[in-house]
Amino acid sequence: MMTCKEVSTLISTGGFSDAPLTRRLGVRLHLLMCRHCRAFRRQLEAVARSARAAAAVHETEPSRDFESKIAASLKR
Ligand SMILES: [Zn+2]
Repeated sequence: MMTCKEVSTLISTGGFSDAPLTRRLGVRLHLLMCRHCRAFRRQLEAVARSARAAAAVHETEPSRDFESKIAASLKR
């Protein structure tokens, strides 16, 4: 049985998919039995999702009149 520390480290470093089969099975087994690590993984996935969403938003360039809009709103 793997420890919570081992499991959380493996999940958070993203080394999970590269780990040997026995280690992956160990993680899966641990996750089935440990609700703390399940919660940790859920939170990690939520963070990763919002990070991706934030990155997607910033991929679009600001509009051409972005600066003048800011300047206009500052003058008000
Ligand atoms: Zn655990």
